[in-house]
Amino acid sequence: MPTAKASVLEAFNAPLVLHEYPLPDRPEPGGVLVRTEMAGICGTDVHLWRGELKIQLPVILGHETVGIIAALGEGVEKDWTGAPLAVGDRITWNSSTACGTCYYCAEKRQPTRCPNRRAYGIGHRCCDAPHFLGGYAEFHCLKPRATIFKLPHDLPTESVIGAGCALNTAIHGVERIGIEWQDNVVVQGAGPVGIAALAVAKSAGARQVIVLGAPKHRLEMAKRFGADHVIDIDEVRAPADRIAAVRELTGGYGADVVLECVGAPAAVVEGMEMCRDGGRYLVLGHYCDAGPVSWNPHVVTRKQLTVVGSWSSEPRHLKAALDFLRRHQKECPFASMVSHRFKVEQANEALAATASWQVAKSVIVP
Ligand SMILES: [Zn+2]
Ligand SMILES: [Zn+2]
Repeated sequence: MPTAKASVLEAFNAPLVLHEYPLPDRPEPGGVLVRTEMAGICGTDVHLWRGELKIQLPVILGHETVGIIAALGEGVEKDWTGAPLAVGDRITWNSSTACGTCYYCAEKRQPTRCPNRRAYGIGHRCCDAPHFLGGYAEFHCLKPRATIFKLPHDLPTESVIGAGCALNTAIHGVERIGIEWQDNVVVQGAGPVGIAALAVAKSAGARQVIVLGAPKHRLEMAKRFGADHVIDIDEVRAPADRIAAVRELTGGYGADVVLECVGAPAAVVEGMEMCRDGGRYLVLGHYCDAGPVSWNPHVVTRKQLTVVGSWSSEPRHLKAALDFLRRHQKECPFASMVSHRFKVEQANEALAATASWQVAKSVIVP
């Protein structure tokens, strides 16, 4: 029986362990067997590895993956857009699938809050067949109803993985908060989600985008993606000074829209003060529960703020992301973010590189 390698999270805060699992003879009906071409290491993987998000182990991490179809299960003929699928096609997919029939899916139109969603690389234990349900492996099995996208020839794998789940997340978030033509926009955070939010805000018609973050190399990346101003939080250390700097850049009023892409509770308090009166504030970066913060709700009432949350993304956001990536490879060089490549046997080094926040994007090329 043929086997393939996978790097497995067996215990939190402990090194990943290399395993060989048997490959399925053929995919289950409605499923697909994919040979992994590249898997991104997301910041969330570091939090998962540290046990900061409660998941059932063992798990093959990796929820940003591109691969080549090795075998199609019975009944799988087309991708999410209706394009025909064949063995040898290069594809990507949403990390989770909503059920479509529950209260949140069918009645309240909040499919990202579907309680039946289980994400590849996060919510599937790998001890049972078909094992390969995460990106850090030579193969990946897709379950029935997976939302698959065939990649066009002129869209490099590096672009898709360089943008990663951050771009879908940012597209969904910006859709929920709304950016109007000529809006002054602040992005808090220059990590992958911040860079993606910057790219989406620019293309949505923002007048200027101001990015706050650190370290320097991330702010350089923000400039390459078209940031009009960057504020280095290592240099401008007091929140009051950063708020004043944003006011100065926005005619003394503050931003129309502030996008939080940090994940630190204190950033939310600071960011609301960066909004103009009647402005909009998006809390996008808090995928982990980083705890509470002392905060004065009077700010929201007095400034008449609209505060919005956004969780994960839907298939239509991935479709939009892939189209956007294909058309904006020059202005938004996501492919250039892929900076460090590792074999599946080196998954621990890949994870450590991402955890150090010193690399733009680590990937696994099995
Ligand atoms: Zn992610
Ligand atoms: Zn549902």
